[in-house]
Amino acid sequence: MSANCIFCKIVKNEIPAFKLLETPKILAFLDIQPLSRGHALVIPKTHGAKLHDIPDDELSEMLPVAKKLATALGVTDYNILQNNGRIAHQFVDHVHVHMIPKPNETEGLGVKWPMQDTDMDKLKALHEELKSKIEN
Ligand code: 5GP
Ligand code: ZN
Repeated sequence: MSANCIFCKIVKNEIPAFKLLETPKILAFLDIQPLSRGHALVIPKTHGAKLHDIPDDELSEMLPVAKKLATALGVTDYNILQNNGRIAHQFVDHVHVHMIPKPNETEGLGVKWPMQDTDMDKLKALHEELKSKIEN
């Protein structure tokens, strides 16, 4: 827990939230400034700023809960988003997964997708480098 963290305060019921689902490890609640109806957040109860700060057993519960929320809302189009770092649009430094319904072109998440040209040599070199560094 982090004393100044807004999401830790929600976990501890120190500030209110529209909670949707709670397990010993995680919590889901409605986003206070939704991009669309049903926009919700799933968080680990453990405080950690970024994805790599959170233990696997907590992370592994988060996507199934996002799936439950999407199913309960009956949405067909939606984005699952998890931001890490300011430049990557993270403003609350407690890991959270967004479940953002996409009901139409204007509501929900807007995505900029700045594709680079395919460079097979670069991809091959990166592939080799990463394969040797990834821990199984
Ligand atoms: P980020 O940009 O960090 O990925 O998203 C943080 C999200 O948390 C935003 O969508 C924002 O609306 C939401 N949020 C920030 N403060 C609160 C709060 O006090 N309560 C709730 N329910 N959501 C919050
Ligand atoms: Zn926190």
